[in-house]
Amino acid sequence: MRVHYSPLYCDTEVAFDTTRKAHAIAASLTQQPIRRARLVMPESATRDHLTSVHAPGYVDAVLTGSPRDLAVSNDLPGWDEGLARAVCASTGGVIAAALHALEHRTVAGSLSSGLHHARYASGWGYCTVNGLAIAARAALDAGARRVLVLDLDAHCGGGTADLIHGHDGREGHRRHRGLDGVEQVDVSVDPFDYYGTHERTRLLLTDGPRYLQTVQTALDGIEDPASIDLVLYNAGMDPHEKCEGGVAGISALTLDRRERTVFTWFARHRLPVAWVLAGGYTNHLSMSDLVNLHRLTIGAAARSVWASS
Ligand SMILES: [Zn+2]
Repeated sequence: MRVHYSPLYCDTEVAFDTTRKAHAIAASLTQQPIRRARLVMPESATRDHLTSVHAPGYVDAVLTGSPRDLAVSNDLPGWDEGLARAVCASTGGVIAAALHALEHRTVAGSLSSGLHHARYASGWGYCTVNGLAIAARAALDAGARRVLVLDLDAHCGGGTADLIHGHDGREGHRRHRGLDGVEQVDVSVDPFDYYGTHERTRLLLTDGPRYLQTVQTALDGIEDPASIDLVLYNAGMDPHEKCEGGVAGISALTLDRRERTVFTWFARHRLPVAWVLAGGYTNHLSMSDLVNLHRLTIGAAARSVWASS
């Protein structure tokens, strides 16, 4: 299983978990390999990739740092050229994982995070560009007809929902072409970036005790899974009770069960999957605890590749 990662993902002075944890996870995979998981360096995304779903003016702000208020609309503590390179490298990893999974009908991933709150013309909530939407667009352009975004980050994926429906994120009406053929199923435990259930997005807000049952309900509600060409799985670990956005009762064991449940569901329907890290923070966890949470996704994904090949 290809796990896309480049040192560029973290080569920025802008320090935050989103710009640091991929390096720690890659180091752990080198020191303590997960069977069948192999680090692969992706090509960086280009400006054209970024403008395939985002406003050109916003993309240029991300790439150049100007105007500054737009460049830091992601809520990260600053901008530097390294951050622009990190965003392009990390987005390139999501695209590469998606296209590899689609082409080979397999499972791949990228150590990318900070994606699902970014909307058409700005960042938000530690998210700079929406790599899920960009990878979905790339998959559609490569021939996919039905792409499912499964978002199990603690917070709601309102940026992705806006991009799917063609909303610009402020006035709420359709402003750009949207992503026809893309749908989102989202289980969240924190109402941040709430958007409700609409034509091609389904959002379930839940709590700790009902979490796993709600994930299962969300999966069971997906119609005709066999016709899905690609799943983009936003595998946030921030539902964990010690993360920002997490809730009491969701432990590492809960998240391990979640990953086994979703990858068993993907394998049962033989679905190509590209997974990414998404949320997961060191608020009350050590970096090594956070790394171990994200390794749950990589382990479950690698075992499912083994089981289905
Ligand atoms: Zn989150």
